[in-house]
Amino acid sequence: MHTLVINDWMGGGWTDPAYQLELQTMGYPRILDILYGSPIPRDTPDVTKVVLLGWRTAQKVTGWWGRLTQQTPLWHGKQLIHVAGLEGFQKWDTIGISTLGDIWRGTHIRSFQDLQKQYSLNKTQFHRYLQLRHALLVHLQTGDTIPEHSPMEAKALMGDLGRGGVSQIYRTLITATGGPLRELRQRWESWVGSMEEADWTEALMAPCSLTMATRFRLIQSYFLHAAYLTPAMLHKAGLRPTAECPRCRYHTADFYHMVWTCPIIMAYWEKVVQEISEVLQEEVKRSPLPLLLGVMGDTELRRADRSFLGVACLVAKRDIMADWKARVAPALAKWRRGVDWCAQREKLVYEARGCLHKHKKIWGKGEDVVGL
Ligand SMILES: [Zn+2]
Repeated sequence: MHTLVINDWMGGGWTDPAYQLELQTMGYPRILDILYGSPIPRDTPDVTKVVLLGWRTAQKVTGWWGRLTQQTPLWHGKQLIHVAGLEGFQKWDTIGISTLGDIWRGTHIRSFQDLQKQYSLNKTQFHRYLQLRHALLVHLQTGDTIPEHSPMEAKALMGDLGRGGVSQIYRTLITATGGPLRELRQRWESWVGSMEEADWTEALMAPCSLTMATRFRLIQSYFLHAAYLTPAMLHKAGLRPTAECPRCRYHTADFYHMVWTCPIIMAYWEKVVQEISEVLQEEVKRSPLPLLLGVMGDTELRRADRSFLGVACLVAKRDIMADWKARVAPALAKWRRGVDWCAQREKLVYEARGCLHKHKKIWGKGEDVVGL
């Protein structure tokens, strides 16, 4: 899930340096617009997109997308559309009246005198105040209580969550009352059989726990959510003449067929698993839980070997996705190059953290076979 990156990015709250940097490149109002509902512009860098999407997904999953809180921006975003449409309020924004919580107290709008006192508003602003009040009362009624923040806003505003931050965010998401995650689990269980609670939690964590590379995190997250357009879906939507698998011609190619049960893809996984087994000198079974979902519980592998398996499978998944509509399986040579690339890349990270020995533990065995 994309939310993992949010913690890196917004974990320090709205004042986090990384967030501030992003504000400067994207423009402050623009980024708030997007966090609160405007479409994501085409030219947004991928990494930023991931975070923005993650934020939205998290707000949706926790049931807070589109709901008002005291953090809801007044002048930007889609939530308070009548207020955001007002003109001539730039000054209000710059003196610190920028969120709903700044003008709504308890169950009613704050008085002009009250605002005047706190923000030293000039008397001439009274007509603007009336304008604002009028626009606001289109969205709210006196007597409405506005919650202080959504669970995700709370996490973003809390400041540095420290090492347990990601798990905290996950716990918020996993225990969310919303149905999307439950449905997702049912979907996977219909494919791979029923899962223990711990396994499902591990699957949800996998986009973050398998790798540090954002690009691969994204792939795992799309995988977890089965978020690819399959021939079956396209056919149903009238965008493809048949629901057939482009590889084996099976009549209904749904997500699980495309990434697992298709005989051609199955043979590909067989080869990948064989190579991984040779590298690790341990027998790795071709099983969907560790390979597709990154659930390593039953693999009986060492920690470092699990890391290698996780990344090696991510590369295979990337290649399956990249050749989504191909008639043949992805090339094994491409997979080897991919694993090599990951090893080099992760080496830099381990080097920077001064723990190259860990890298050696994970990737050391691959030196002969994969040619690292
Ligand atoms: Zn097939």
